[in-house]
Order: sequence, then structure tokens, then C-alpha cells
Amino acid sequence: MTTHDLATPDTTLTTRPTAAAQASLYQQLRTHLATLCLHAAAEHLPAVLDQAVADGLSMTATLEKLLALEVADTEARRLAGRLRFASLPTPATMENFDLDAAAGLDPLLLQELATCRYLESATNVLLIGPPGVGKTHLAVALARKAVEAGYRTYFTTAADLAARCHRAAIEGRWNYTMRFFAGPTLLVIDELGYLPLPAEAASALFQVISQRYSKTSIILTTNRGVASWGEVLGDTTVAAAMLDRLLHRSVVLNLDGDSYRLRGHHAASDTLRRTATGTRRPLQ
Ligand code: ADP
Ligand code: MG
Repeated sequence: MTTHDLATPDTTLTTRPTAAAQASLYQQLRTHLATLCLHAAAEHLPAVLDQAVADGLSMTATLEKLLALEVADTEARRLAGRLRFASLPTPATMENFDLDAAAGLDPLLLQELATCRYLESATNVLLIGPPGVGKTHLAVALARKAVEAGYRTYFTTAADLAARCHRAAIEGRWNYTMRFFAGPTLLVIDELGYLPLPAEAASALFQVISQRYSKTSIILTTNRGVASWGEVLGDTTVAAAMLDRLLHRSVVLNLDGDSYRLRGHHAASDTLRRTATGTRRPLQ
């Protein structure tokens, strides 16, 4: 009996296929797996069959082992594909988000958001705060969680979204582009309010938000309080309608406090100041 002899229990000599028949059966099985594009199963077939014989595994257990490898491979490929599509700009994760440094954030709420349950109710998340407090970090980290949980996710900035819609309008691809932005279960729109948006951008943004309204989620980050959105978008009516839809079912996180980027500088200048004035912290 070869080590690749899975199906044949060692019974009578008369029912035992020859080594040549075994080899041909094995080749046939590999061909089946290749035809069905089960490449991981095909690749691992010899090792799984060897293990099955060595450990005396049942046929069911052996088949399960082989297909589990194929499933794991398929899931890894899908995850990599979703991650590529998501276009996340940084490697930020929830795990490396320092809660102690983020003033005013409720840890339980962040934990809840990390479960991705908000996506099932098409809830939006608004991250509001001055530059450097971790808005983009959190948006990327939540997007990554969504990708890992199997949701189609796409990250863009408000300026980029506006520019793409503008190009699409000129090139006759408006409907296609609107469908593109309607597609993902989670759309992240980063940095609304950082750059002045051109007039037509407000209506593009409004249309993207409207068509996703109550169907799919948006995470939006902004350095401008909602009161000044009219100014940001150059149109108070559109801003009010947009906010209506965004806030209807939403979680609003206000991040205030020190800029994380400037923390090092602040600590350094505090030390300098203390040294200059002769005040020192007691040694610990
Ligand atoms: P914002 O989008 O609010 O301007 P960012 O998310 O870009 O700020 O944060 C600036 C930098 O500081 C990034 O490198 C980010 O990873 C880091 N950062 C900000 N807040 C935190 C935090 N609470 N924990 C860990 N890193 C943080
Ligand atoms: Mg940012």
C-alpha cells in the first residue's frame, strides 16, 4: 500500500488495486482538484494523504482536513483582495490606538465599534476634532476591522472623492462613479473641511451620502464642527440636508485634547520650561 492510498482499507488481496492503479487514481484526483481550481488542496494532497495513513484518519476526517486547507487559502486570498481594494493609507490598527492619549473617548463605545455591528444597521460614524488627535488613525483602524470581518470597505478623502466625481462628470462616467461609491458596505471619507471644496463637490458629496443613506455606513472625519459645514460646503441648504442623512443614525465621536503628533514636542518643551524655571519633578 502506498502512502497515498486513502480509499483502500487493507482487506483482501483480491479487492486491492495494484500500485499502478493507485498511482493513476491519485493522478486523477489531482487533476480533479486542479480542474476545480482547488489549488491549495491539490498542493497539500500528498501531505494530507500521508498524514491520514500515519494517523489512521477516517475518510471523512481526511477530506475535511484537505478542504479546510482550501477554505483557509480562499479566505486569505479574499481578505488580501478586500484589503487591496480598501486602499487604507496607513497601517493603523485599533490595537495600537492609545486610549489614554485620546481625551474624551468612551472605551466601551470604541469596543462596540470594533465589533462592526454598526455596519448591520447602516449606522454612520462621525469623528470630529482638531488636527493630530487620531481621527484618521481611528477611521483606518475601524476600516481594517471591517475588512477583516469580511465587509467590502473603501477609504477615500473628501478632496479625492470630489475630484473623482468632477472628472467622472466631464468624462461621462457619472453613473458608474456613483455606483462605485454606493457599493462598499463601509465608505470612509477622510478630512472633510481641510481643503475648501469646489462648488460642484458639495452636490457630489451629497449624492454619495444620499444614495448610501439607511443602506450602508459612512465613517467621516472632519476638523470642523457641524455648525460650520455650511461654510465648508459653500451651501447651507446642501450642508443641512447632508447632515440630516449622516446624523439620522449615527455615532458622533468628539476627539479633543492634545495633538498626538505634538505630544512629543509638548513634553520636550515642558521639560525645557521646568529646567529653565528650576522646578523639577521629584524622582520616582
Ligand atoms: P488626525 O486625523 O486627527 O489629524 P491622525 O490620526 O493622523 O490625526 O494622527 C496623527 C498621528 O498620531 C498618526 O501617526 C496617528 O497614528 C497618531 N495618533 C494619534 N492619536 C493616537 C492615539 N490615540 N494612539 C496612537 N496613535 C495616535
Ligand atoms: Mg486626519
